Amino acid sequence: MEKENDSSTKTNAIDDSAYSMETHLIYGKNQSTKWDYAHHVVAPLTSSVIFRLDSVERGAEGFSEFAHSDFLKENSRPIYIYDRLGEPNKDLLEENLAYIEKGEMALTFSTGMGAISGILGILTKTGDEIISHRTMYGCTFSLLNNWYPRYQIKNNQVDLTEAENIYKVLSDKTRVVYFESPANPNLDIIDIGAIRKILDEVNAKRGETEKVYIVVDNTFATPYCQRPIELGADFTIHSLTKGIGGFGTDMGGVVIGRKSFYDALVLYRKDFGAVLNTKAAWTVLTYGLPTLPLRISKQIENAQRIAEFLSSHPKIELVNYPGLPSFRFYELAKKQMKDFKGNFAPGSLLFFALKGNSNEEMRELGRKFMNYAAKNAYTMTLAVSLGHTRTLIEHPASMTHSAVPADKLVESGIHPGGIRLACGLENVNDIIKDLERCLSVI
Ligand SMILES: *Cc1c(COP(=O)(O)O)cnc(C)c1O
Repeated sequence: MEKENDSSTKTNAIDDSAYSMETHLIYGKNQSTKWDYAHHVVAPLTSSVIFRLDSVERGAEGFSEFAHSDFLKENSRPIYIYDRLGEPNKDLLEENLAYIEKGEMALTFSTGMGAISGILGILTKTGDEIISHRTMYGCTFSLLNNWYPRYQIKNNQVDLTEAENIYKVLSDKTRVVYFESPANPNLDIIDIGAIRKILDEVNAKRGETEKVYIVVDNTFATPYCQRPIELGADFTIHSLTKGIGGFGTDMGGVVIGRKSFYDALVLYRKDFGAVLNTKAAWTVLTYGLPTLPLRISKQIENAQRIAEFLSSHPKIELVNYPGLPSFRFYELAKKQMKDFKGNFAPGSLLFFALKGNSNEEMRELGRKFMNYAAKNAYTMTLAVSLGHTRTLIEHPASMTHSAVPADKLVESGIHPGGIRLACGLENVNDIIKDLERCLSVI
């Protein structure tokens, strides 16, 4: 009896690599050493911080294996000790996230910011420098510009939509090129392949400890629309709180990338502490990933329609959406943003601004529009975050990007009156009806 229930005695006859990503996201790894699937169909939600060890020797083995992945045999069963070091729900989720992003390994964190702090924490030290795109999420901007200078880590922000701008700030101390594509909130698209090409040339002349790594925040695209590692990135990070989690119930983050960095990253996570909650891991694994293709494909459909509606509206000055042929980065977006079947997948976010005679007037009109929508629109909620079931609008200059000083907004690529719209799953005609009404009154 016992033997029959032991999944290690089963042989995995199914070659899951032959199946599509949509199917894979539902089944995940149908055989995992991280959990015994003899009975459960859905992975159980584990809620145990500690794990019983059979002997002191077994405990010692667990501690010596931890962060020594070279000790681990292929498909060996992990020795779980304490949640902060690793546990089944996170491990199962990590296997699946690595698969979907085409990375060698994935490691989850408590939040997207935890993941960013994790990867930058192991790639940089005092005296090093980072090159980053001028437009990025407000808290990442604050981390790099307010906190890292305390450790003498310098952040050089340039316009990476021109990859050659790297050379303007590159030094012997540069260790990381960091960007989002599409960028939050203005949807700038960065040519990942062009940056790879430059860094391959730079790295060819550098020793192992001096190399420069590419870290791409892929939160806006989600792996459904773009896999940066395939395009040349060394590491991808995500806020799981957004499109991958998808329902706005849990926070999380992940770093996906090179296996040779796994041990350092898991040690860093152990000591700095930003581990993903087991319940959050289970939610993403059970609800987020299996529905990702359905949700994001619907959001793309909605976003495309809304972008077309807004760009033909007389009161609208600007619409940034990667799926609009008039968008500055349309051709590059077509090259980089593709769903699992290779179709153009321009994402679920838009950035737009109302017409006005000055930045101040546009900002004021945007404020009026959002305040009116907050009270009168059924399908648009004034709230931060993105990639959820509901359509969300917000004002980056005064909300998500308030860490960027007002006089730095324009040079950071953020229109002061710009409105960020994150599409949900509603019937798009309802959203357009609400947009039309809100625009008609201001
Ligand atoms: C939200 C967001 C983050 C931070 O994620 P949290 O889970 O909120 O910590 C990082 N990058 C981008 C692009 C985001 O939108």
